[in-house]
Amino acid sequence: MRQYTIKEIITFSGIGLHSGTNVNVRIMPSAENTGIVFIRKDVAGSPRIKAEAGNVIATNYATTLGVKGVKVSTVEHLLAAFYGLGIDNAVVELDGPEVPVLDGSAAHFIEMLEGAGLKAQHALKTYLVIKKPIKVSEGDKYVLIQPSADMDFSIDYSIDFAHPFVARQSFSSQFSRDIFKDEVASARTFGFLNEVEALRANGLARGGSLNNAVVISDTRILNEGGLRYPDEFVRHKVLDMMGDISLAGMPIIGCISAHRSGHALNFKLVQQILRKRDCWEVSDSLEREESKRFFIEDGAPALA
Ligand SMILES: [Zn+2]
Repeated sequence: MRQYTIKEIITFSGIGLHSGTNVNVRIMPSAENTGIVFIRKDVAGSPRIKAEAGNVIATNYATTLGVKGVKVSTVEHLLAAFYGLGIDNAVVELDGPEVPVLDGSAAHFIEMLEGAGLKAQHALKTYLVIKKPIKVSEGDKYVLIQPSADMDFSIDYSIDFAHPFVARQSFSSQFSRDIFKDEVASARTFGFLNEVEALRANGLARGGSLNNAVVISDTRILNEGGLRYPDEFVRHKVLDMMGDISLAGMPIIGCISAHRSGHALNFKLVQQILRKRDCWEVSDSLEREESKRFFIEDGAPALA
């Protein structure tokens, strides 16, 4: 399986969910083995910030990358889009500190990336293949990753909020590009109306609105169109997980089980995976049913 980048440059702009500032973005194709690299064009010297675990500087309400005091926040939905489509290499230029939230999901990112076209490169993908289980937990919250007998990537996620509209939801699936696009990518971020003031006082959610988040009051969902899936909340958590797990730096072959996790615990798992070198192997040749599995060329163009 080859590495992928995009064929054409994408440009768009939008408001940051937490900063509330408008940011212009340009996503460009990039060379093999580059990974996903952010560039802050508005900062002197245009510093580069690679999307990798060592550059994560915050995980409260969003995942933030930073190098030497220069940061890019709320990277998780865009990273999930790259990961879910199997795009390994791209450069993301921004003129502000936060990736635009757009509609609060990865749907527009997917649409733009697919519109630009995917391009297979010559270098092979390298996979991080889990061989022994790794678990991180905090009280009753946990994330566990285990070896996959099918040499596959799957997520089994459950949430349990003390709110009648969210409450207990679970989602479980193996992933292919199409399952990611159909089942997870359009699920929006969500928040509770009674927490909005406190978030804003802490400099968060300043760009949040009904256009980019599902907002829940004590008695109803405030968005006019309602939900995109009856269990949109847990599906969004799966989307966040995809973005966060991509910070391991390689596509993962393994089965994730998560209960009430969030960015902080997701990132702890990534750190533990990278530390526990005896729990996984690197492979560029997977023996499996290539037609069905994740990151496989289902509908993607052949080597160009
Ligand atoms: Zn999210």
